[in-house]
Amino acid sequence: MSKKVIIIGSGPAGYPAALRLKELGAEPAIVESWDFGGTCLNRGCIPSKAFLDTGHRVHAFEGLRELLKAGSEVNFSPDMLDWDKIKARRAEVIAKLRTSLEKLFQAKKIEVIRGRASFSGPNEMAITGPHGEIKRQFDYAILAAGTRPAFPPPFKDFAGQLTDSDRIFDLPARPKSLLIVGAGVIGLEFACFFNSIGVQVSVLEILPDLLAGEDPQVTRVVRSSFEKRGIKFHFGKKASRITVTGGRKTVELEDGTNLEADEILVGAGRAADLAGMGLETLGLPWDRKGVKVNEFMQTTTPQIYAAGDINGISLLAHSASRQGEIAAENIMGAKHTFDADIVPKCVYSWPEVGTVGLNKSQAEAKGLTVKTSRAFYAGIGKAVACDETEGFAQLVFNAADETVLGAQLVGGPATELIHVIALAVKLKLKRADLKSIIYAHPTMAEAIHEALYK
Ligand SMILES: Cc1cc2nc3c(=O)[nH]c(=O)nc-3n(C[C@H](O)[C@H](O)[C@H](O)COP(=O)(O)OP(=O)(O)OC[C@H]3O[C@@H](n4cnc5c(N)ncnc54)[C@H](O)[C@@H]3O)c2cc1C
Repeated sequence: MSKKVIIIGSGPAGYPAALRLKELGAEPAIVESWDFGGTCLNRGCIPSKAFLDTGHRVHAFEGLRELLKAGSEVNFSPDMLDWDKIKARRAEVIAKLRTSLEKLFQAKKIEVIRGRASFSGPNEMAITGPHGEIKRQFDYAILAAGTRPAFPPPFKDFAGQLTDSDRIFDLPARPKSLLIVGAGVIGLEFACFFNSIGVQVSVLEILPDLLAGEDPQVTRVVRSSFEKRGIKFHFGKKASRITVTGGRKTVELEDGTNLEADEILVGAGRAADLAGMGLETLGLPWDRKGVKVNEFMQTTTPQIYAAGDINGISLLAHSASRQGEIAAENIMGAKHTFDADIVPKCVYSWPEVGTVGLNKSQAEAKGLTVKTSRAFYAGIGKAVACDETEGFAQLVFNAADETVLGAQLVGGPATELIHVIALAVKLKLKRADLKSIIYAHPTMAEAIHEALYK
């Protein structure tokens, strides 16, 4: 008899798990209470990249101005962009991808159950949806329920009047000014996009710098690039009070300063919300970080696995997908583990950021002596030809034997190039191995080549 597995959540953790289980001969079913494809497809990675693509087009269009014949004029300003059309384009992108995902599930004959799942026993789930309540038995379950935008105090009491990364995509009108709370990846990507379409953007961050834990060389480049474009940062400041009057929103800081904007986007992290899911019937504890798993993605309740944001290991779609597959494979008898050291961390703003493995201070914290080698795009032919000279490629080596420990790329196609280094970290390649391949000329990848000789 094939194993019956129910997966809660159709995001990038849940749907690859279902596909893998089917491939391995199990009988998977997937339950989804909202849009198929989860946060990533509907309210995260994909819509934010569709928005950022609009920003890129504006950026490219602006770049043409200097090449116009003397006397000709392009009558364009970002104010001319139609907010409803920007939203419609994002909706089209989502619909296209969601439809093909749903068709894939139909083609593979994987059951999709619409409704909200909760555990009603150690091997039983109750699903409440358009069909009323149904009960389903399972041998194993994979919890892939994701996370929600978090509202820390004092924003918590104003959640309904402020916006978050779910609702920002559907704002009825483009705000004239936007205050973003949180200078993490989500906050920065929205800052970059809204600034590019003519919104006055400021960012409030409680920490002293953006992208917490990132190499200071990287954050310096990003910060100065954003500031040059008019994005204002307020670092090391804590909000104490919120007021909302007549459409104007104000954050009072602890130092007495007021920050005002038409709209406030709270991008200060995400939290698990597993209330009402019956985890207590399984004796499974959870908190705002989600549910703890072992290296095999298995919770303390052996028949329940947890993959993706909900286990709090790495709040990224590609981590979620790998973990979903690992959970599926382990249910089918494998003993696979998740390698968090080779997860690329990317920011799709401009400049882009792509990092993997260890940076200098992380390596030193592990007691290693490191050597870093950096090459700037300003010295790379393709970068100069394309006017993309911001940023650098930095490689981190173990000083003892020149093993590649990690890389920090900022500028150029950092989110694409980072995979070369992910492979090097995974395979424990040395500087000489990376030197032994031939880098096409002219490419942005030559920054990696240059860095190897520094
Ligand atoms: C604005 C934004 C941009 C992002 N950009 C990127 C990016 O560029 N790259 C990247 O790697 N990551 C990005 N992320 C993070 C990424 O979206 C998440 O890491 C990823 O979606 C997590 O996948 P998941 O499957 O764990 O959860 P989710 O994608 O959140 O899916 C969970 C699903 O479970 C469903 N569910 C929950 N409870 C139940 C229940 N009881 N019954 C039935 N269904 C339930 C939910 O409705 C949801 O559809 C971004 C996130 C945001 C918010």
